[in-house]
Amino acid sequence: MVSARRPLVAGNWKMNGLQRSAAELTKIIAGAGELAARIDIVVCPPATLVADFAARARGSAIVIGAQDCHAEVSGAFTGDISAEMLKDAGAQAVIVGHSERRSTHQETDAEVRAKALAAWRAGLIAIVCIGETRAERTAGHTNAVVQTQMGESLPDGATAENLVVAYEPVWAIGTGLTPTSADVAEVHGVIRQRLGARYGAAGHGVRILYGGSVKPANAGELMHINNVDGALVGGASLKAEEFLGIVNVHR
Ligand code: PEP
Repeated sequence: MVSARRPLVAGNWKMNGLQRSAAELTKIIAGAGELAARIDIVVCPPATLVADFAARARGSAIVIGAQDCHAEVSGAFTGDISAEMLKDAGAQAVIVGHSERRSTHQETDAEVRAKALAAWRAGLIAIVCIGETRAERTAGHTNAVVQTQMGESLPDGATAENLVVAYEPVWAIGTGLTPTSADVAEVHGVIRQRLGARYGAAGHGVRILYGGSVKPANAGELMHINNVDGALVGGASLKAEEFLGIVNVHR
């Protein structure tokens, strides 16, 4: 993947998808067409489908990613999957620190940081998720929460090629709710400023995705906000038509 702030649309399938779901990937590959020359498109199926999807996507412009990895290379970690295993299966990117993992698996910023480092060690792009809860937003703490998560979840050494930041307000994920465009612009501006302060010129090249109830109907507005370089899409990424509807706003 190249990345001079090329738009990037990533689909997070979460715990959805069986072998027959490869039909959706086939439709995405066909439907992306020449648009894939201008934007990066990433599909992150469950781990069981990564190798098959990567084989099917080979030779196309669609990149296959995973949804999580363990920080260690290998060892006695029953049920876990290392970044090296994902790379070996054909993944080129991995989401780390998704709010569902932070909440249901109690993942800390330090663990997310270790996973991002593991991704880099294996040669994967780390898509690191950050975002505030409803209570944190209501209390006026959004910018502080996001800055703390960035400080503690992002490792040193980020470049435009190895890091993507996904701003996902927890209260907007899977709810149909989205922040106002002004609120998205404000938070993405804060993230951009922190990336520049920490990583210099490299930080200005790191893509910042918005995630949280992105649909074809709202993608046009969200994707044209300053410092929004693309989308991380959950529910609407499961059906090729919907996912392509979001990809297509970059036409
Ligand atoms: C997500 O899971 O990262 C996400 C943004 O989900 P949804 O698009 O369904 O809100």
